[in-house]
Amino acid sequence: MTQLMKKKIFLFFLLLLFNAFCFAQKNHFAILRKQMVESQIKARGIKDIGILKVMQKVERHKFVPPPLEEYAYEDRPLPIGYGQTISQPYIVALMTQLLSPKPKDKVLEIGTGSGYQAAILAELVEKVYTIEIIPELAEVAKEKLKILGYENIFVKCGNGYLGWPEMAPFDGIIVTCSPKDVPQSLIEQLKEGGQIVIPVGKGLPQKLLVLYKKEGKIIKKYITDVLFVPMKH
Ligand code: SAH
Repeated sequence: MTQLMKKKIFLFFLLLLFNAFCFAQKNHFAILRKQMVESQIKARGIKDIGILKVMQKVERHKFVPPPLEEYAYEDRPLPIGYGQTISQPYIVALMTQLLSPKPKDKVLEIGTGSGYQAAILAELVEKVYTIEIIPELAEVAKEKLKILGYENIFVKCGNGYLGWPEMAPFDGIIVTCSPKDVPQSLIEQLKEGGQIVIPVGKGLPQKLLVLYKKEGKIIKKYITDVLFVPMKH
């Protein structure tokens, strides 16, 4: 056997080993995700089959900094840098359910952060517009979502307090940072019959609200107390 052949055989086995490692890793995270869906999401009353499927499908560990991958399926928010966090999985599922996403919907998210909530929504609606105020986070999320193949998510760096008037009106708006009051611009950019899911508060905890636009009027519904990073004005 020539030296070159030996080298080739060695490289072949190395590649085989690497593939086996990747497969085991993927499988490991899929099991953790299944446990997350069962114990944190289903157990707390999220019943929408579409949402449960998507929470099982989207790989949350790809949206956290690599040293935190192992904690990605735990029942808590995690830091993503710049003093910001990726929300707790249950809160993502709950807010998604409150938004009542439909396949033909165009939705707006304020606070892209890691891009995880946007990815969950993109599996359920036609188009997701998402705004992030920190340029570095917006750039990382944009790149990540592109690598993961999401062609229906549009990331913009800017102040979400103003909404995205050029793309309005939206069927639904989800806000994942907390303003002191509901921004008027978001109410204006919401379609008749649509809803805004938003954590609002002058202090802590904030109130998670759903605002429904019905016959031009806004009907508010309190859901639960939550803790979100403040919305920058
Ligand atoms: N939805 C995110 C979690 C977001 S954390 C995820 O799935 O990971 C809240 C994010 O809102 C932070 O990244 C923060 O920088 C951003 N943010 C705060 N104020 C904002 C504003 N006025 N406009 C847009 N984004 C804002």
